[in-house]
Parts: sequence; C-alpha cells; structure tokens
Amino acid sequence: MQSRAHALISEAALRGNLSALAARAGTPLLLPVKANAYGHGLTLVSRVAATHQDVWGLAVATPREAAQISALELGKPVVLLTPPAPDEVVPLADLGVRLPVGSQAEAEALPPHARAHLKVDTGMNRLGARPQEAVAIGQHLAERGILEGVYTHFATADEEDLSFAHEQLKRFRAVLSALPPVLAHCANGGGTLSLGKLEGMALARPGLASYGFAPAHLRETVPLTPVMTLRATVTQVHTAQTGESVSYGGLWRAPRDTTLATVGFGYADGYPRNATLKAQVLVRGERRAVIGRICMDQCMVDVTGLDVRPGEQVEFWGAQGLTVSDVAQWGETVEYEVLTGIGERVERTLVD
Ligand SMILES: *Cc1c(COP(=O)(O)O)cnc(C)c1O
Repeated sequence: MQSRAHALISEAALRGNLSALAARAGTPLLLPVKANAYGHGLTLVSRVAATHQDVWGLAVATPREAAQISALELGKPVVLLTPPAPDEVVPLADLGVRLPVGSQAEAEALPPHARAHLKVDTGMNRLGARPQEAVAIGQHLAERGILEGVYTHFATADEEDLSFAHEQLKRFRAVLSALPPVLAHCANGGGTLSLGKLEGMALARPGLASYGFAPAHLRETVPLTPVMTLRATVTQVHTAQTGESVSYGGLWRAPRDTTLATVGFGYADGYPRNATLKAQVLVRGERRAVIGRICMDQCMVDVTGLDVRPGEQVEFWGAQGLTVSDVAQWGETVEYEVLTGIGERVERTLVD
C-alpha cells in the first residue's frame, strides 16, 4: 500500500553531516536520536549512525527510546539524558543503558553494574547537580567504578553572544578538574558549530545540526544538508469557482476559477496549522500556495494551469528548494518543533 505522506531520509546527507560535525568538534559524536530521531525515524537513523565511524553512541530522552534502541543490538552505547523513574533504573542498567545522575540520591540508587553520566547544571537550570555538589557525587561514582561520563548543556550556544556559553564552559571545566578523567561532553549543535574544538572534551552532541539545520549566523561554519524530504500524494483535483470559499472558516475565497489539488498531509501529520494562508509547496518544482485552512489530514493547493492528477506527489520540504526552516517560519515556530511533530502516519524510508 502506497502511503499518502512519505519522509525520505537521505543516508548520504546524514552521513555527510555526521562527518562534518565530528571534524568540527574534533571528537566522535554522541548523536541525539530522541523524539524519533527528530522525527526522522529512531530505528532507521540509529541503524545508519551505528555504522558511522564518527559516532560513539546514541543519546535519548526516555527509557522507552533507550529500550527500543537496545533491542536493535547495534553495539553502540545508549545514553539516557533525562532521569528515569526509580523503578526503571535497574531494568535500564540491565540493558547496558548509560544513566544520567544529577543528585546524591540518584547516585546511591544505581546498582553496581550501572554506568553513569554525571549531569552538571552550569546554567541551564533544567537538570543536574550544581557544580559544587557535582564534584562530591562524581567522586562517589568514581570510587564505585561506575562513572563513565560527565556532561552539561548550553542554554545559549546557538546565539551570537557566546559570553554565557563561555561562562558555562568555565564552570564545567572546574568540575572536570576535580574529578578523575572520564568522558566529558557539553556541546549541542549550536556549541559544536560556534565553539569548534573544545579542549578536554571527549564527545559532542549535535542534534538538529546532524539532521541538516544550523542557526542562520552559523550556516557558513560547516556544510550541512537537510536529511529529510517530505512528500505527500494528491488525492483529488477539482475546481473552486470564482467567489467560492475553501476549507474551514471560509478564510479564502477564489478570486477566479481555481484548480485545487487536495493533498494527504495535515496538522495531525505535523504540518503546522499556523502556516495557514502562508504556506507554499512545490508542485512539479514550482512553488504553489496552500489554500485556506490547513486541515487535520489534508490541505488544498492551487494547481491552476498545471495538469495535476490524483496520485501525483507534491513536496512540502526537501531537496528541491523549500526547507523545514521555511515551514517553521510560516508556522511561527522552529525547525525542532516541525520535525519532532511529524506524525506516525508519515512513512519514513531510507534513500541514498
Ligand atoms: C536535545 C539535546 C541535545 C541536542 O541539541 P541540539 O540543539 O539539537 O543540537 C544535546 N544535549 C542534550 C542534553 C539535549 O537534551
């Protein structure tokens, strides 16, 4: 059965981005594959990444994601970045999943066969132990022989002003200097692009950049290619006559007879409803307007003058010219939210 909406995942683009980012960081990568690999498909991306020489391991946000990757038996470390519930700790340790530790209590709850990554809160104020407390926790974990890594997370490394990122780095290094040498990691994509090689770091964790996106002011730093192309199928073609309204709320009225293609991609699939009356798609390589309210399962496209037939594919973003960044802008959001919002009904396929 042909799916109505398809995400084509380019293996070459992903591999190229990973190589370029590892070269920029000067370290292997702990690749974030959380949130279904930023919408690209957890299994598919993890399988490709596991055979890339610059990928040390895979980072996830939930125990379920960790268990899903573990079941693939890819032979790469899986690191959980957010604290699991107490009853999930031992099962995750049994799977070999590396566990985050942000408090003395969490450290003490780890079984002897666990491997810990100590999380230091250097200014994000989200997770982890404050630097002073972190040193004591790290020493405890090291004495037990279960400290594998130490990490922190930047709050502003994707911005032009890097002064706070440098302050966070300073606080992080102070913790590292008080601990035995373990795998230290701090750079997200913004940090990898903006800060480059960081003395003393063993790994980098670029997420969005690995999938091909960088903040505008960092686009020149490293060549990145968007990994995903999103296409959906035309399910009907018809004419809206002059003066007729289209879709919910009648927001759009045909100024002239307009040929409309109804396409099987809507907000339940991840197309931002806020992009209504702004969005465009590519029909046979030509930019065409999305007409009226974007619906749950579909949207309508002006294909006047093109001999479009049901079954034809239109492109929402990808290799031909429209990007996720364009869609994010129309939808008043960011690439992260568009990509991670792509629904289950969209079939992901690996292509060259
Ligand atoms: C999501 C996440 C990353 C990746 O961030 P990007 O901005 O996508 O590069 C890195 N580290 C942690 C702890 C994260 O939660």
